[in-house]
Formats: sequence, structure tokens, C-alpha cells
Amino acid sequence: MLLHWLNAECFFEFPYNHFYFNSPPLERKREAAMSDCLFCKIIAGKIPSKKVYEDEQTFAFEDINPQAPTHVLIVPKRHVVDLKEAKTEDTELIGYCQLVAAKIARQRNIENGYRTVYNVGPGAGQTVFHLHLHLLGGRPLTWPPG
Ligand code: 5GP
Ligand code: ZN
Repeated sequence: MLLHWLNAECFFEFPYNHFYFNSPPLERKREAAMSDCLFCKIIAGKIPSKKVYEDEQTFAFEDINPQAPTHVLIVPKRHVVDLKEAKTEDTELIGYCQLVAAKIARQRNIENGYRTVYNVGPGAGQTVFHLHLHLLGGRPLTWPPG
């Protein structure tokens, strides 16, 4: 009974703690990562960006340090770290970002040649650990990339 009362008291006095400590550890880890994530903040409008496109699942904006006349980042609204951390349930989202890139490329009239890139891991130049697809175009793109 006392325990029951204490729990109830805790819940009323510290409802946020109650939810926090009753959420599974993985969920807490994800929430912590999101609260510290640059792209989550951009999606939430807490950090300004030049928005190019938005729908229910994705947010696309101009890269701050463009490597081509078109350099847009297509970002899933759901916080996924990168391709190697992605789960089966992220399959559709990963492919969907490619279709959003194709739509933007069509709108920008760069369909003669553009590139979409997921950098995966620091060794490949990934600096922001929220999955994002680069759309690059508007100039000749050489192969292999540097
Ligand atoms: P990554 O190197 O992780 O594949 O790509 C991250 C990209 O995000 C880089 O191309 C970088 O220029 C871009 N970026 C980093 N910080 C910001 C920012 O605050 N705003 C915008 N719009 N782009 C950013
Ligand atoms: Zn994020």
C-alpha cells in the first residue's frame, strides 16, 4: 500500500521522470541522440535552413557548404543514424529519399546528370549522424569521386 502511494506520489510530482524511467533504454538513447542532433533541430525549425521540399516523411534543404550548383540534403524526419545502423523497417524510407531526390532534380532541370550519395561513417566523410542523402548536380560530375 505504502509502495503504491509512493508510486502515485512520484507520478504526480514528477510525471516526466515517471515516463522517462519507464521508457525502454533504447528509446531513451534515441531520445538523447535526437535532442543533440543538428538535423533533428533543423527539421524542427530550431536551426534555420533553406528549405527545398517537405512532406510527411522527409525534409530537404540546401547544404550550407555546397559542392555543386545543386547540393541538397534529403533527410528523413525519423532519426536514423546512418545506413549501417538502419533497420529493416527503414528500407522504404531509405529508398523514398532517393525518389524525393529525383523529384527535386526534375524540378531543377539537372536530369542530364546528377548524383545521390549516402556517406556512411567518418571514413567516407560522414560528419552528421542523422541519415541524409546528398543530391549533387548542375555541373559535370567526374568518376570515380574523390
Ligand atoms: P556528411 O558529411 O555527414 O555526409 O554531410 C553533412 C552535410 O551537412 C555537409 O555537406 C555539410 O556541409 C552540411 N551541413 C553541416 N552543418 C550544416 C548546417 O548547419 N546547415 C546546413 N544547411 N548544412 C549543414
Ligand atoms: Zn536527428
